Amino acid sequence: MRAERVESGDPAAIATGLTDRLTDPLGVFAAPGRANLIGEHTDYNAGLCLPIALPHATYAAVARRDDDVLRVESVQQTQPVEVRLSAITPGSVSGWASYVAGVAWALREDGHRLPGMQLVVDGRVPLGSGLSSSAALICSTALAMCAAAGVDVDRRSLVRATMRAESEIAGAPTGGLDQTIALLGEPDHALLIDFRDQQTRQVPWRPADAGLTLLVVDTRATHAHSDGGYGQRRADCEEAAQVLGVPSLREATPDQVESLDDDRLRRRARHVVSEIGRVEDTVAALEADDWSEVGRLFAASHTSMRDDFEISCEELDAVVDTASTHGAVGARMTGGGFGGSAIALVPTDRMAKVCDEIAAVFAARGWAAPGVLPAPASASARQVS
Ligand code: ADP
Ligand code: MG
Repeated sequence: MRAERVESGDPAAIATGLTDRLTDPLGVFAAPGRANLIGEHTDYNAGLCLPIALPHATYAAVARRDDDVLRVESVQQTQPVEVRLSAITPGSVSGWASYVAGVAWALREDGHRLPGMQLVVDGRVPLGSGLSSSAALICSTALAMCAAAGVDVDRRSLVRATMRAESEIAGAPTGGLDQTIALLGEPDHALLIDFRDQQTRQVPWRPADAGLTLLVVDTRATHAHSDGGYGQRRADCEEAAQVLGVPSLREATPDQVESLDDDRLRRRARHVVSEIGRVEDTVAALEADDWSEVGRLFAASHTSMRDDFEISCEELDAVVDTASTHGAVGARMTGGGFGGSAIALVPTDRMAKVCDEIAAVFAARGWAAPGVLPAPASASARQVS
């Protein structure tokens, strides 16, 4: 068994495939998935994170209609969905189309007048793999809808609108990491996001210059408790902050965390506080061109998520252990956890070997073949045709 290479596809060909399905298309808009390099479950704790935009994106083509209807079709779904724009309210649309309907709702909430629209989307970010296909869908359709409405909305406002779309209409609570990187990422840079004040800073990320490649491994494992697990971790963090009397865990010191009596809350808080420190240390290591330190921080982050935050799983641990044994300078799970994807920083000349070894471990344990995505830091949401 080999790991399956998941290609990002040719944007021009994908765009043509979509516009062929519309009469009078206005354009095609793309928004990327992401891999978070470090800083997990820190966004909703007013912390720091450091994601990159993937070359894999979701593409949305749009045409205007002369009624009040939003019609959405996805290459990844069997049925189109139609809804009147004025009928979109929290709870009124369910399933995948709620992400798209949510964007229309949030833009209208911000006072933008939207025409009726026909949208066709093609997602090249693996769905539900922890690489944020949901934000890619939301942000690509946000750009498409703004174009159809003839409005130019600044990127920071779009971050807020797309976050509301996901949490209030799609019903998926989000800390904002995914939408921020999808809308503000730059090629060859990671984005340092500070969720205390929403400030961002571009940090050069060029592992190829050091002979390294960032490998993203989609374990294709999903564990049933992932949604509930996210909510429980959020609740634990809020409780820990409350017990410590701080507005968020960003304000807690390591000593305060160790003073918590409750073992579970102490370990949850320890992950968040130490992880925020690791994001700062990773940025410093990158600025010093110290890739072995970056790798060490990735490994420490994974251990913290596995043991203290308890969001890893067998498949993620297997990727991290196997990659590290076969030469990765560092590896960690990425995204919300309980399945999904891991990243490994691998010497480029050992990539094939690492991929083969991971596939062999998966085969030996009777798991489906993993997907692998080489992942240079790529562009944020944009018009492609
Ligand atoms: P992730 O964002 O990590 O991929 P989520 O569970 O947050 O995982 O989002 C995945 C969901 O987003 C899918 O189950 C589907 O409802 C929706 N989605 C994402 N991409 C598409 C697409 N191209 N077409 C239709 N629905 C999509
Ligand atoms: Mg998502």
